[in-house]
Amino acid sequence: MPKCKHCNKDIQFIKTATGKICPVNTESLSDEELSAISTVIFNPKIHKTHFIDCPAAERFRK
Ligand SMILES: [Zn+2]
Repeated sequence: MPKCKHCNKDIQFIKTATGKICPVNTESLSDEELSAISTVIFNPKIHKTHFIDCPAAERFRK
């Protein structure tokens, strides 16, 4: 399972509707989504981007 290299939290990389890759907290994904992670499209109402709570988020944005 991927981990954030900055804070070591469990994360998954999923696609957004625009085709970008976004890191999200694993805990915000359902078991069904985790079993088919490559098909999941980021939904801001459901998925929690790891940018929000990563202590190193400032480095992500650069
Ligand atoms: Zn992090």
